[in-house]
Amino acid sequence: MNNDPFKGGRKLPLVEDFYTIQGEGFHTGKPAYFIRLGGCDVGCRWCDAKITWNPKAYPPTDVDRIVERACSFPAQAIVITGGEPSLYPLDYLTGALKERGLEIFLETSGAHPLSGRFDWICLSPKKQHPPREEILAQAGELKVIVETEDDFEWAERNAARTNGACRLYLQPEWSRFDSVIAPTVEYVKAHPKWNISIQTHKYMRIP
Ligand code: SF4
Repeated sequence: MNNDPFKGGRKLPLVEDFYTIQGEGFHTGKPAYFIRLGGCDVGCRWCDAKITWNPKAYPPTDVDRIVERACSFPAQAIVITGGEPSLYPLDYLTGALKERGLEIFLETSGAHPLSGRFDWICLSPKKQHPPREEILAQAGELKVIVETEDDFEWAERNAARTNGACRLYLQPEWSRFDSVIAPTVEYVKAHPKWNISIQTHKYMRIP
């Protein structure tokens, strides 16, 4: 008897899925269909997706249905996010999306081994559960959340472990924006390998 509630990745704990504009990081401004999965064990104080933390709140949903829904929109790109999507086997989901010719972008903390195929990995490392080396090496984008100026040193430690082509972003934590934006601007001016990422979807008032 198979007790795997996720049927090897044919079902996933879906929190929500919706078509919107990617608001932050390298793909800012790009229309994308978001698939948000439940469950995260990283526990960031400022997390703006705390509703996702308990995966039991989100019954396993048929991945085929999620893919059909995504394909009913004109989206060319899919963002798989959470929660922490790497908690689940993602080969089936990403394979089905690839068969439909869609680009697949992943948002992850890098805390767990990855499965699945991705066109772009956005790695947002967290101190309390640091990222795995192999995910740092694969990331197309490193997006470090800046809560205080101490986070610049954490950003550099992670950047030193990425591949040479990885795009580097510092993103002010939204609730600390007013206190961290000025030092972040000055830091990026002094260390121009970095870029600033702003959560533009919050200004656009979209999810
Ligand atoms: S890793 Fe992401 S989803 Fe998990 S607690 Fe941190 S911000 Fe929230």
